[in-house]
Amino acid sequence: MDTVSSFRAELEELAAWRRELHRHPEPGFGEHRTAAFVADKLRAFGVDEVHTGIAITGVVGVLRGRAEGPAIALRADMDALPISEETNLPWSSRVPGWMHACGHDGHTVMLLAAARRLARSRDFAGTVCFVFQPAEEMLGGGRRMVEEGLFERLPVREVYGLHNWPWLPLGTFAVHDGPVMAAADRLDVTLTGRGCHAAMPHLGRDPVTGAAQIVSALQLLVSRETDPVDAAVISITAIAAGEAYNVVPERAALKGTVRTLREETRERLLARIPGVVRGIAAALGLEAEVEITRGYPATVNTKDEADEAARAAAAVVGGEAVRRDLPPSMGAEDFAFMLRERPGAYVWLGTGGAEKGRILHSPHYDFEDEAIPYGAAYWVELVRRRLPAE
Ligand SMILES: [Zn+2]
Ligand SMILES: [Zn+2]
Repeated sequence: MDTVSSFRAELEELAAWRRELHRHPEPGFGEHRTAAFVADKLRAFGVDEVHTGIAITGVVGVLRGRAEGPAIALRADMDALPISEETNLPWSSRVPGWMHACGHDGHTVMLLAAARRLARSRDFAGTVCFVFQPAEEMLGGGRRMVEEGLFERLPVREVYGLHNWPWLPLGTFAVHDGPVMAAADRLDVTLTGRGCHAAMPHLGRDPVTGAAQIVSALQLLVSRETDPVDAAVISITAIAAGEAYNVVPERAALKGTVRTLREETRERLLARIPGVVRGIAAALGLEAEVEITRGYPATVNTKDEADEAARAAAAVVGGEAVRRDLPPSMGAEDFAFMLRERPGAYVWLGTGGAEKGRILHSPHYDFEDEAIPYGAAYWVELVRRRLPAE
């Protein structure tokens, strides 16, 4: 049976679930309504165990197949973003200032659809853990699940994740070997000088010109110290200093991110930044405080599991529709913490939509319901391949 068309037959119901979640977006670690929706569905499907409250709002369903075997985890994320929706769709967000702008509503529904199908058939040997994680956006819900002993409670052999990708056509997949998404670390710099009259700069120490020098110099760490074929990006995204036309302010504050694909490059850049900032500050008579906050590591697929994921995707959409040659994205993904603990693969599911301006984190975005059958069928196919019932 073609699983895509069998899920298409359920699409009206599945799209209604997705739109229900879309109307009620919740912030990271605040996904109480969503978690209850997920747990209720898993119980109704007859999943063997439903664990709630992991990392505050995380939910895990455990389903045993008809024969003994190893365990694998499939992961979806549930949180929304602090964006005011501008789609004007009938199922538009009812929560002011919050929106499912990354498609985690779609991810949740695709995994639920697969859970229901597998709970009915149980045609696999082993155990499937359906992991619904909170707080993927910035807050590290996946890290917290790992820290709370997710993999001690559920001794899984492999982990798999999926994200919708509006820049790829509907009905396609992309599977990377190695890095898929970058590490993203945060940088905060405070420069303290000496405030003075704008007409008499020689009487003070100007943190604004210092900030400008530092913004430029940090770019040299990428362009002059990093191998040009090894991707890295430093973006200073906020500068706050002063408010008057005629005053050199006392302080300037900078914020930004450092993104890398290789752990070695990450460590080298993070180690170099404080020296560059302090060196320039010292040269200009400024004091500098540098704070680096480690965010998500790079999301790196393991070879064998990436190959398996690609085969499962090919079984669903055909080999031609599975891209193996796309470069990684410099965005970051919390699933990285799970992939650090276990081998596995994180794939992109093409949904289309970018041509209509429906891109991730845009107020005009909406998850493409037509993609649900592909994602759900992929999960089912992956389970049957990784846990064959003979
Ligand atoms: Zn996102
Ligand atoms: Zn996302």
